[in-house]
Amino acid sequence: MLTIGLTGGIGSGKSTVAQWFRKHGVPVLDADKTVHRLLESDLSIISKLIGEFGPAILEENGKISRSKLGARVFGNEDARRRLERVVHPRVVECMNDELATLRDTGIEICVWDVPLLFEAGFELFVDEVWVVWVPRNLQIDRVLVRDKLSQAEVGARIAAQWSLDEKRNRADVVIDNSGNLRETECQLKELWNKLLRRLSSSDT
Ligand code: ATP
Repeated sequence: MLTIGLTGGIGSGKSTVAQWFRKHGVPVLDADKTVHRLLESDLSIISKLIGEFGPAILEENGKISRSKLGARVFGNEDARRRLERVVHPRVVECMNDELATLRDTGIEICVWDVPLLFEAGFELFVDEVWVVWVPRNLQIDRVLVRDKLSQAEVGARIAAQWSLDEKRNRADVVIDNSGNLRETECQLKELWNKLLRRLSSSDT
């Protein structure tokens, strides 16, 4: 089975592209959802995180508060590394379990949607990386329209990630999402057909 790591930056259009894959019957595993599930119910992770960051990361109901945890590590390299050391190995384990299940059902290609794939070093766990790219000014505009954030807040979020240009340079495949949705869909159709041709020629 071939695993595509799908990534991009805030507001570049990754979810839009992931939706296209789903619509065409390609399974998409969602790394963010896996993390949310682990923070919600994986007792080993929950206790390790309380050990690392203290009870201040908990809601009143005793559950981990993703926003408190996010605020605790935002802009703090050391804290972010400690969080990743706890969470990432379990995310990879969960993904491998999900991949094994898909493989058993005869699926040949699947997508792993990982917003911070390069930042987390997860390119090692996929066969190829597809990056959804837009120019920076359009990235800012689309986030401003989508989220209730100020220009400065958007800038801070973008600065906390690798730049899309850097990600594009490391991509195996680039999806340029700077046009309209129809243009992106046409591109995806073409890239998908190219992938199928590549796979069938490597079979022979
Ligand atoms: P995040 O990682 O921040 O959740 P994302 O990379 O998943 O973002 P999307 O949510 O898919 O990005 O897209 C960001 C915004 O831009 C959304 O409001 C979406 O509807 C819009 N958008 C995406 N692609 C296009 C496009 N080609 N033309 C116009 N708007 C678009």
